[in-house]
Amino acid sequence: MSERADDMLSAVEVMERLRVVHSMIAAAQAEEIELMAQLYRLRRAQQLTLGVGALYAGEDAATEIGMAIKVSQRSADGSIALGLGLDERYGATREAFAEGRIDLPRARAISETLVNASDELLATVEPRIAAYAEHAEPQRVRRTLRRWLLEADPAGQAARRKSAEADRYVKVTAAEDGTALLEAVLPAAGGQAVYERLREMASTQCCGQDPRTTGQRRADALVALADGTGRLACRCGHGTCPRSQSGESTPAARKALVQVGVSAETLAGLQDNPALLAGFGAIDADLARQIARHAHFDIITDTDRPAADAALRYRPRTRVAARVRALDGTCRAPGCSVPAAATDLDHQDRFNHANPESGGPTTEANLGCRCRRHHRLKTIADNGSNGWQVLHHPDRTVEWRSPSGGSVTTTPEGARFLFPRLPIPPVTAAGVPDAAVVAPLIDPGPAINAMTELVHVYCTPTQRRSHRQSRRHQPALGSIVVRARPDTEPPF
Ligand SMILES: [Zn+2]
Ligand SMILES: [Zn+2]
Repeated sequence: MSERADDMLSAVEVMERLRVVHSMIAAAQAEEIELMAQLYRLRRAQQLTLGVGALYAGEDAATEIGMAIKVSQRSADGSIALGLGLDERYGATREAFAEGRIDLPRARAISETLVNASDELLATVEPRIAAYAEHAEPQRVRRTLRRWLLEADPAGQAARRKSAEADRYVKVTAAEDGTALLEAVLPAAGGQAVYERLREMASTQCCGQDPRTTGQRRADALVALADGTGRLACRCGHGTCPRSQSGESTPAARKALVQVGVSAETLAGLQDNPALLAGFGAIDADLARQIARHAHFDIITDTDRPAADAALRYRPRTRVAARVRALDGTCRAPGCSVPAAATDLDHQDRFNHANPESGGPTTEANLGCRCRRHHRLKTIADNGSNGWQVLHHPDRTVEWRSPSGGSVTTTPEGARFLFPRLPIPPVTAAGVPDAAVVAPLIDPGPAINAMTELVHVYCTPTQRRSHRQSRRHQPALGSIVVRARPDTEPPF
C-alpha cells in the first residue's frame, strides 16, 4: 500500500467524504425503518380481515423481519415502533431522517423523548427539534427537547411523567463471560433512592482495607439487597474489622432460582464442556459446578421415554415437561431468547380434548417450548390466518416458514449442552486425572456410580431421601439439569 501523501485524500477531503457517507447511511436507514413499518401494516391489515384480534394482529412482522435480516425480535419491535411514530406523529423528523440530515440515533432520541407528548405540543415542538437535531448530538437533543417540553407545557408535565412512569421495568440480560446486565427504568425518585442506598452501603459497611473498588462494592450491595442478607460483608480479612456487624448475625443469602443444563461428565469433573444457564447462554464448567453445589437435580437421559398413558393427558407430566424444557433451553422461534422456564409447552399436532387418541400426543416429540408471542404465532398459523408454517420435526428441529417465503430451522439449544458431541478434557481440575477417572468415559458403569455419589453429595438430606425413594432403577449415564432452588416447578 502506498503511503505517499499525494495519493491520499487530504484531511479536508476525508472529512467531506465522511459527512457524505454518514448522511447516505442515515437515508438508507430511514428507508429500512420505513419498510419495516410498511410490512407491519400489511401483515396487520391482512390478519385483521382474517379475524386475528386487534391486540395481536401484525405482531409476527417482527419475527419475519428478524428472520430475514438477522436482528433480534426486540430490535425489530423497536424499529417498527419508530417507523410508525415517524409516519404518524413526527413528520419533520421523518423528512430530515429520509434526507440524511439527521441519523438514526437522533431520530430515536426525538421519538423517544416525544413519546408522551400531546398532539398540540407536538405541532409546536417537533419541527423545531428536527431542525435543531441537524446540529446537535443525540444526548443534547434529548436534554434540549425535555427543557422545551417543560417550558411549552408545564401543566402537562405531570401527565407526561405519569405516562412515562407507566413504562417502568427491570430487565436482566446476559453479558460477557458469565456476567449479567441489569437494566431498569424507574421513577426518578425511585432511581435516586436505589443509587443512594447502594452508595451508602458501599461506603459505610466496609472498612478502608476492603480490596474492592467502589463500583464493585455498589454492585455487590445491589445483590445483597436482593439475596436477603441486606448488607455487605467487608472483605478486609480482619477479624476485628470496625465495620463488621456485631451482635445479631446476618441472615443467610437466598439462593437464586436458576436452571442450568450440564452434562453429567462435566458435573462430575470428568470433562469441562460448557453448561447452559437458561435464558443466558453458555457458562463455563466451573461456574456450573459452583451453582450445582446447592441444587436440586433432574436427571435427563438420552433415551428417556415416558409411559404410553402419559401421552393421552393434556398437561405433560413433570418429568416430560422438565425434559422438554431442558432440551429446548429457550423458545424455539428464530431469534427469540425467552428462557424455557418461562415458555409454554406447545403441542405441535394439536391435542384433541374430546378424543385424546386421535389428536397429537403429549410426548416429548410432540411438545416444544414457545414463548407467549410465538405460541400465538403458531396457533394463528394453524388457523390459517397469518401465512406462517411451523414444522416441528421428530429430531426436535423446528422449521419456521414465513409468509414471504423465508425459512429458518432452529435446533434445540439445551440438547447441545446436555449431550455434547465433543468432550472437552478437564482444564480446571488440579493435576492429571488418573486412569480410574478417565475409564468411565469408555465404560459408563463407574461413571454412573460416581454420578449417584455426586447427586448425594450435592443434595440436602431431605432431597436425598426423596431421591432414593423415587429412584426405581439406577439412572443411566446421561445429563443433568440443575435447578438451584428446590421444590419450585416452573409454571406451564
Ligand atoms: Zn474491614
Ligand atoms: Zn419466542
